[in-house]
Amino acid sequence: MSQQATAQGPADFSVDADWDAMFVDGEWRRAADRDRTDVTNPATGEVITQVPEALEPDVDEAYEAAVEAQREWANTSPAERAKVVREAARLLDEHAEDVREWIAVETGGTKPKQDIEHGGAVTFVYDAAQFAFRSSGKHNRSKIPGKDNVIKKEPAGVVGVITPWNVPLKLSIRVVAPAIALGNAVVLNPASPTPVTGGLIIANLFEEAGLPEGVLNVVPGSGSVAGDRVSSHPASDVVAFTGSTDVGRMVAKNAIDHFALPALELGGNNPHVVLEDADLDGAVDAGIFGTFWHQGQVCISINRHLVHESIYDEYAERLAERAASLPIGDPRDDENVIGPIINESQRDQIIEYIERTVEEGATLETGGDHDGLFVEPTVLTDVTNDMTAACNEHFGPVAPIIPFSSDDEAVEIANDTEYGLSGSVHSGDAFRAEAVADRIDTGMIHINDQPVNAEPAAPFGGMKSSGVGRYNSDWIIDELTEPKWMSFQREPRSYHF
Ligand code: NAD
Repeated sequence: MSQQATAQGPADFSVDADWDAMFVDGEWRRAADRDRTDVTNPATGEVITQVPEALEPDVDEAYEAAVEAQREWANTSPAERAKVVREAARLLDEHAEDVREWIAVETGGTKPKQDIEHGGAVTFVYDAAQFAFRSSGKHNRSKIPGKDNVIKKEPAGVVGVITPWNVPLKLSIRVVAPAIALGNAVVLNPASPTPVTGGLIIANLFEEAGLPEGVLNVVPGSGSVAGDRVSSHPASDVVAFTGSTDVGRMVAKNAIDHFALPALELGGNNPHVVLEDADLDGAVDAGIFGTFWHQGQVCISINRHLVHESIYDEYAERLAERAASLPIGDPRDDENVIGPIINESQRDQIIEYIERTVEEGATLETGGDHDGLFVEPTVLTDVTNDMTAACNEHFGPVAPIIPFSSDDEAVEIANDTEYGLSGSVHSGDAFRAEAVADRIDTGMIHINDQPVNAEPAAPFGGMKSSGVGRYNSDWIIDELTEPKWMSFQREPRSYHF
């Protein structure tokens, strides 16, 4: 295979620039004769670009470069590391227009998705820049006379990162930026439908920001080849995976096989619980946003609405009316709120889940149909927790509504799932909502809001089959560093023999 390495990356961040490359050891590697993947705009079916398919040897070269570059990078001053990460944040902000267009054409993200994904990514990268200084150690007391215990924090080493296609910029950069700030090197495999937003844009940002060669490597390619090699490569020290629970299980086994730490952000089946004393307008507003933001293709979106039987009909009627009025269409038109589903297989699964749930006895209040990849916002009533759209992570613009008759029953239904990622509880009595929220087994839960929240200073992650570990702030600093205990015996020590 003739591989042409070139120092030239894409000329700018625009959709028209040449993104047909992988980024390894500081080089934009292009190859005329290798397999490529089409990157398609889900709203129009148009091919936006092609990117090369990284194979095992490419991933191996990326790890080689990362191992080599990491030692020196870890020895640069925190001020230097923070400066590079801050500059990447500034560039991400400066190139907002291009990056937002990428979110629209590659992920099918409408304006609210562009606002939250791009804006959130800028905030998180600025926050991560400070991690260079914040990974501080401790000085602890010793049980031995004359001894001092010092606990240092060292970068973990090389971090393999694998991310999904739904919110690719944010989900990749939420690991890449902290990892780099903390003195690690990274090998990133973005998901095949979104290699630019989830990877190559990030390479371009950090290259322009002055990151030394080899510290960040981006290898687009299929999960079963490139992703599998990223998770099983013996040089990785942490494998940070965001994606489905089934793939996460395989990735964790690969990582553990060579004693890398698996950091896993997996699927969800998030309940939106509305008690009978809730402010109905607030609960419906939250229910609409939490279900339909980015067409429901979000790990933390509302998968099930659990509504007290006394307000069930009123809630369902209002939710269906609002859902039916949401504007659907091309994400580049700012009027639209609902864009396309990422591809046909995801769309077919969503439609199948809706149809099966209706066959199982649910009532279709609105939606249920599709035009190309655009699936209508769908509301289902008379749903029980064992019906298809309720017991599976449907990952679509679908609101199954389940009635309950007591707080105990709401908690029981909310917890009757293998997942434990996020959720929300609505009540006019904050203490009552808290008591319910305390009993719901999720890593994140929001009172009088909806489950789609991520904040730099709050731990992000799930219980049960929704993952292992937490992202953001001190929690991700712990995942991406290794504590090292060093003791100083300052006085002669009396040994047992
Ligand atoms: P997925 O598990 O199919 O793919 C995720 C990533 O894994 C992709 O990059 C894919 O290429 C890669 N992959 C696939 N097979 C692999 C293998 N054998 N070895 C290594 N990597 C492999 O998930 P998806 O369909 O892209 O995303 C949707 C899922 O992600 C949902 O379950 C959603 O809940 C979850 N998700 C979780 C979070 C979170 O933070 N908890 C965030 C977003 C999405």
